[in-house]
Amino acid sequence: MKRKVTLIPGDGIGPEVSLAARRCIEATGVAIDWEIAEAGSDVMEKKGTPLPDEVIASVRKNKIAIKGPVTTPVGSGFRSVNVALRKELDLFACLRPCKLYAGVRALHPAIDLIIVRENTEDLYAGIEFEEKSKEAAALVQKIKEWNPKARFNPDPAISIKPISESATRRIVRFAFETALKNGRKKVTAVHKANIMKCTDGLFLRTARDVAKAYEGKIQFEDRIVDNMCMQLVQRPNDYDVLVLPNLYGDIISDLCAGLIGGLGIAPGANIGDDTALFEATHGSAPKYKGLNKANPTAMILSGVLMLRHMGEAAAADRLENAVAKVLKEGRSVTYDLKADRHDPTAAGTSQMADAVIRAMK
Ligand code: NAD
Repeated sequence: MKRKVTLIPGDGIGPEVSLAARRCIEATGVAIDWEIAEAGSDVMEKKGTPLPDEVIASVRKNKIAIKGPVTTPVGSGFRSVNVALRKELDLFACLRPCKLYAGVRALHPAIDLIIVRENTEDLYAGIEFEEKSKEAAALVQKIKEWNPKARFNPDPAISIKPISESATRRIVRFAFETALKNGRKKVTAVHKANIMKCTDGLFLRTARDVAKAYEGKIQFEDRIVDNMCMQLVQRPNDYDVLVLPNLYGDIISDLCAGLIGGLGIAPGANIGDDTALFEATHGSAPKYKGLNKANPTAMILSGVLMLRHMGEAAAADRLENAVAKVLKEGRSVTYDLKADRHDPTAAGTSQMADAVIRAMK
């Protein structure tokens, strides 16, 4: 029987890389009935919202979705569709494997990390107050009452950073279970508990507590986020599975993408109790929109994660091996994987997908 999957093409380079991934997934022979759901800036113009209700309804019904990137205006304009989907569907865990494939130029010869990012709270909670607003002023007033030592510059904008024990417990447990399932040895919790003693302090204390249940099976350690950045650049292979609050997880994901050949390669999954949405780590790269230039690998590898999640391990292996073969040959790859980014022999998005499909045969 065909499995129904929601496909959200996204905007910018989204439609191109989504189509490439769809063709590669179909070439594995797994029977999928795609339900297309449009979200993003193009839909905003037609429907007045970048995230129509039917998109959420479709993912909720099918319980599995793959999504191209969606633009979020910087500083003003509509709120992130990506963050809204994760929160609305309670996709609490963002899983981002960072594996270096042979043939891809990188700082280190081998890397195989898994990043687990909390997806529902932290500074991404969307609780923000503009500068000079009466809410921000009232909040400053209230905080001064509660803490007379609190000092503010005049008229600050304020973003709230909630971190809860329940959400931390859930994400750290997810990280340990991911480690067990994937034969990993160590989980590292990343935080800034030396400065943010309440929020990050709670994250660290809770992580230490959850780790006790895995003693003897999976090692546990913690790192302060700034030190973690330096360590990842110098000695990434000292690490295995990283678990992080939302903001640090977002930033460290891009750092690790840089270690494995760039954003064009890094896949991801947003996972909840019964629903999962697969998407690349990268954004909509608007400057490459419609140019058939963007690297489809991150979306195709997100498809590999989706196939594994669907219990289609053999198809997932076939597709991943085909991607690995194309990367190793280094011929039919997009500009970002060539030594010279202006190499005229670079493949386009759809030609790289064709090469992956050929490599599966
Ligand atoms: P971006 O990931 O779109 O681009 C960063 C850099 O990486 C750019 O130089 C871009 O050209 C390059 N790049 C990205 N994907 C590539 C690919 N597949 N192949 C080759 N090169 C690639 O990040 P940005 O510029 O910060 O954000 C652009 C928009 O995307 C913003 O509106 C942002 O909010 C949004 N965004 C969406 C998601 C998502 O949908 N999950 C994630 C991140 C950013």
